[in-house]
Amino acid sequence: MQSSLMTRSLFNVIYSCGQLQVLLETSFRPLRRPVLVLGVPSGTSRFSTQQNITRMSHELPRSGCIFCKICDDTSKEGLDKLLYSDDNIVVFRDIYPAAKHHFLVVPREHIPNPKCLTKDQKPFVEQMISIARQTMEKEGADMSDIRLGFHWPPFHSVKHLHLHAISPTNDMSFIKRIIFRENSWWFVSPDYVLQQLSSGL
Ligand SMILES: [Zn+2]
Ligand SMILES: [Zn+2]
Repeated sequence: MQSSLMTRSLFNVIYSCGQLQVLLETSFRPLRRPVLVLGVPSGTSRFSTQQNITRMSHELPRSGCIFCKICDDTSKEGLDKLLYSDDNIVVFRDIYPAAKHHFLVVPREHIPNPKCLTKDQKPFVEQMISIARQTMEKEGADMSDIRLGFHWPPFHSVKHLHLHAISPTNDMSFIKRIIFRENSWWFVSPDYVLQQLSSGL
């Protein structure tokens, strides 16, 4: 116990995303990929429906979610335009860009984070990835130098699923390189999420 307390330290990242400044704080743990936290305890149903999602008292309801507000009415949140929009997905620029091209691919449905996705939503995630790549290309980004990724719980910016798309990666500052470090504890690649969905965890 004592030694664990002695070795314990705090990791703070002041993180900007959307219009929120969020302080992420957690204790250091042994270096390990977050595979084990993917599992859902037996007997616990995954929450794939909006009804079940809103039952999660620790998550923001749609009414308190800034990304839901953007999906419902872009003008209210000061965005000049959406880069892409269809019945299920919108794309808009990150208000604190980490590079010349930095936007968010956001489902219209209030899905709190990637761990709330179910196996049958894999095609939807693939669609998000495809739209991210198409938008990058349309915006004239160098397609050989893009970073795509999701925040991984418990690390959040906005608690509404979103895929970050950033290019060129060389534009990123030191702190942004940490925040969007691929396949870290807090930021994972789309492939990682797809693999987890495929494995049905
Ligand atoms: Zn939302
Ligand atoms: Zn984010």
